[in-house]
Amino acid sequence: MAHFPFLIIGGGMTADSAAVAIRQHHPGASIGMISAELHSPYNRPPLSKGLWKQTKLEDIWRATPDLGIDLILGRAARSIDPNAHKVTDDQGGEYTYDKLLLATGAEPRRLPNTPEGVIYYRTLDDYHKLRQIASAGMQVAIIGGGFIGSELAAGLAMNYIETTMIFPDDGICSRIFPKPLAIFMTESYVKRGVGMIPRSTVESIAAEKDGRFLLRTRTRDGQAGIEVRADVVVAGLGVSPRIDLARDAGLEVADGIVVNEFCQTTHEDIYAAGDVAAFFNPALQARIRVEHEDNANTMGETAGRNMAGDETPYNHLPFFYSDLFVHGYEAVGETNAALDTFADWKQENQEGIIYYLRDGFVRGVLAWNTYGHIDEARELIGRRLRVGRPEDMKGIIAA
Ligand code: NAP
Repeated sequence: MAHFPFLIIGGGMTADSAAVAIRQHHPGASIGMISAELHSPYNRPPLSKGLWKQTKLEDIWRATPDLGIDLILGRAARSIDPNAHKVTDDQGGEYTYDKLLLATGAEPRRLPNTPEGVIYYRTLDDYHKLRQIASAGMQVAIIGGGFIGSELAAGLAMNYIETTMIFPDDGICSRIFPKPLAIFMTESYVKRGVGMIPRSTVESIAAEKDGRFLLRTRTRDGQAGIEVRADVVVAGLGVSPRIDLARDAGLEVADGIVVNEFCQTTHEDIYAAGDVAAFFNPALQARIRVEHEDNANTMGETAGRNMAGDETPYNHLPFFYSDLFVHGYEAVGETNAALDTFADWKQENQEGIIYYLRDGFVRGVLAWNTYGHIDEARELIGRRLRVGRPEDMKGIIAA
């Protein structure tokens, strides 16, 4: 049985960031990393953005193999015994640890009864699958209008691949964008040749004899909707945090693995970070879980430092960003379109700052086609100033 003073379950960006931090504190310590993927850690954002533009595959890798750690790839951890400090994997491998990190990430949501070949887009292998099949002239159906759907549709269209998006809302990214911006963006996708089937869900997907797929949709008001034929079906329906290991080990879980300010779970030698971890954020005064790159990197690093002996609280309010054809944004905080929103446009839908308010308090900020405002936005959210009306936000952050 192998013993690691530091053991990490997961092989994503969070895992890599933690390993880097541990290595900085303990140059000679033995570190193990168990990952179900066959690849060493890589940057995930390029899978739906850069790799469809100029980014080269060789540029997405993290330098994890250079850290001199034991990378145990192609194995999934199956159980943890917190008292014995022991982890067992799906091939019967057993490992003991002093400090353990759960960086298990999140699992793509699936539709029931879908045929073989539907790509629930999440990993580098999913990217390879899509790249292999999708080429100019092919037809791709994308289910979901969130991050994966909107970024990938733009990437595919830029590669002359015929793409149709099917999603339940009136416009793309409707959970984040105020309605006028969601509609503007949806229309701009149509102008760039992306087919749009809004207000619809997919009722069934059938594999046809010619190797293509037939998707039957249903409209929001319950009517049978448009039928779509496609060479490839990609789904981005959101993700669920992988909490099973933690729950089965008796750790506290809710929407994610519950951690304290030092990224420790309810067992002091087990930490959790990244997509899977639910932490209290002081600026928002709320327990949150964040599924974006900045949180993976920063929380992973903090967890690694603390496993190595530091006592650094994770007080960071992570930001996120996206690229959608010629448009892009950076955002921070609770950017929920269901809150009161105020768009302070320099030029409507082209450049400006969008504020998200709850009960008069600024909870989130999205900078549309303008960059370098995130620190100011974070500070504004953290100040917890009460604003009279959303319009009072005009000019507070200059676009
Ligand atoms: P997402 O952003 O939550 O979007 C899910 C989309 O699927 C929404 O449009 C949702 O509609 C729709 N949907 C749900 N059930 C559906 C159904 N039965 N039929 C059709 N549409 C359905 O999730 P995602 O795009 O899958 O992304 C996965 C994760 O990767 C997220 O955690 C995201 O944060 C992360 N990610 C982040 C970035 C970034 O930071 N730029 C980029 C890529 C991925 P409703 O809103 O109406 O439910």
